Amino acid sequence: MLAGVSTAAVARRWNAAGLLSGARKASGPHPRPLATWRAETVRALLVNPRNAAIRTLNGEKVGPAAWPAIVPEETFQAVVRMLTDPSRRPAVPVGQRLLSGLATCGKLLDGAACGAHIQAGRNEYHGPTYRCASNGHVARAAAPVDEFVIGLIVERLSRDDAADLLLDDTRPDVDALRTEAQAIRARLDDIAAMLGEGELSREQARTANARARARLAAVEAELADAGRVDVLGDLVKADDVRALWDSSEFGRARQRAVVDTLLTIVLHPPGRGARRFDPATIETTWKIGP
Ligand SMILES: [Zn+2]
Repeated sequence: MLAGVSTAAVARRWNAAGLLSGARKASGPHPRPLATWRAETVRALLVNPRNAAIRTLNGEKVGPAAWPAIVPEETFQAVVRMLTDPSRRPAVPVGQRLLSGLATCGKLLDGAACGAHIQAGRNEYHGPTYRCASNGHVARAAAPVDEFVIGLIVERLSRDDAADLLLDDTRPDVDALRTEAQAIRARLDDIAAMLGEGELSREQARTANARARARLAAVEAELADAGRVDVLGDLVKADDVRALWDSSEFGRARQRAVVDTLLTIVLHPPGRGARRFDPATIETTWKIGP
């Protein structure tokens, strides 16, 4: 999922492999039969905190579990954020251009950038284009823009220090964050128990709970950031970054996930009558690393 595969694609893959979705524990006389996977059932499975050894009760995370995690918590949090973030763009069809839905429109409207997503289009003069989804603000040839962005990424990931800067620096934090998240969940358990035992008033418990949950949300967000770095994985370590990027097994979905992990991209109008590609009209900001 973090590498950019859709839930629908995962469902197809599992169904093709003969894996069926499990019946829920029989809560009545009629347990649900095994069924083929759909995008929604894959999604429901992936956002289940039990995958990261987090116990839940009525949908609330209540504490560390007695069973081992099947994915590290940061990976789990990154997937949850990806699948539940309301600002997340809708899933993109196969064959999508590199920056569709990732870059935003930088056309100034009353002093502020338009901000709408950029989508792929086509026109007679330019061939494939990128254009503002809300309005025709920006419309420019797509290929030079793609090539410019790929060049930036390949150059950055080809540097000797790429792995250090992008991976190692974030790794030590992850253990600490994971431990802290578990400690907070244990604390939530304690608060509930202390309320039950009468050691805390309802008001005290509510305050303690709110504080713990706020901190937990912050820690989970940091874990999600760390987990997203997994997308880079072998790309950072490759001897020939460009060759791996272009290889068929890497694929467009994965390329898009890498762009989304590394860069914020704003496309500005190329300028009236501009015939030459001007890199200054592509505003890029690195999301991670110096
Ligand atoms: Zn626009």
